[in-house]
This record gives sequence, structure tokens and C-alpha cells, in this order.
Amino acid sequence: MEHLPLPLHLSIHFILAVLVGWLLGRRFNKPALGIIAGLLGGFFIDLDHVLEYFLVFGPHFNLAYFLDGRQFLASSQVHSWFHAWEYAPILLLLAWLLRKKKAVMVFIIVLTVGGLVHLASDCLINQYPFRNYSLLYRWRVNFAADQILSPEQYQEFLNQKKYFDS
Ligand SMILES: [Zn+2]
Repeated sequence: MEHLPLPLHLSIHFILAVLVGWLLGRRFNKPALGIIAGLLGGFFIDLDHVLEYFLVFGPHFNLAYFLDGRQFLASSQVHSWFHAWEYAPILLLLAWLLRKKKAVMVFIIVLTVGGLVHLASDCLINQYPFRNYSLLYRWRVNFAADQILSPEQYQEFLNQKKYFDS
């Protein structure tokens, strides 16, 4: 599905998350808080893959299965609940409503920007169209992998599925 090795892919997310967090945090005089929020929004956002794994397989964790993305192959669905553009306007509105509590506001802003940078870099790295990271779009197609992936990517998905099933 993706052609960049996973450690490199994750390193890109990690470095961008720290950079966004530090730069934005520094702008608000809260660099440490910025780095924490940047990492949560820009790196730990991927924990929804773990959540998806447990919802498909129950409480039996197998790291190799997880790294193969078998939660997607077994269900033929891609939920990725945290990966959605739609959260950004909601979170930014929340940040504005909480603007009197500066630390909370900064935390939410950096979390949001970190998440947006993560989604944009995922789209570029995985060659996904931007609509893939719309939760409304995924919900409309019932989170079906065959709708979300391009025909070539879906063929590769099926090949992997066949490989693991045999
Ligand atoms: Zn991601």
C-alpha cells in the first residue's frame, strides 16, 4: 500500500510533529507545551490504527499482524477515526472559545496544526487523494477499502490479503 519503509514514514511524522510543535509553541511562548501537543496531534494520531486493530481482533495483540496492517485486510475496512480534516474547524472553534485559558488554547491549536500536517504528509507519502481523510466521505462509503483506495492500491490490498490467507 505504501512504498516508503515504515520506520522512515514514522520518522517523517515524528520530526514534523516536533518541529511544528516547537515552532508554533515558541510563537506563543510555550515551546514545551507546543512539542507535547505537536506530538499528540502529529505523531500519536496514528494510535487509531491500534484501536482499529483491537476492534477487529479483540484483545489478542500480535505485533507482526499489526505491522502488516491485518486489521484492514481482515475487515476490508479503513476507519482511522482520528484521521479527519473535519476535526480541525471544530477544534479551532473550541480553541477560540477557550481563548481566555491561554495554555489550553495553545494546546488545542498546536494539536490541530500537528494533525493537519500529519494528514497532508500521509496524503503525499501514500498518494491518497485528500478526500480519503474526510471522515464524512469514509462514512458515506461505509469505510470500504475498495472505495477508499485507488484501483491499483486496492489490487495490491487484495494481493496482500490473498498472500496472508494462504
Ligand atoms: Zn497517520
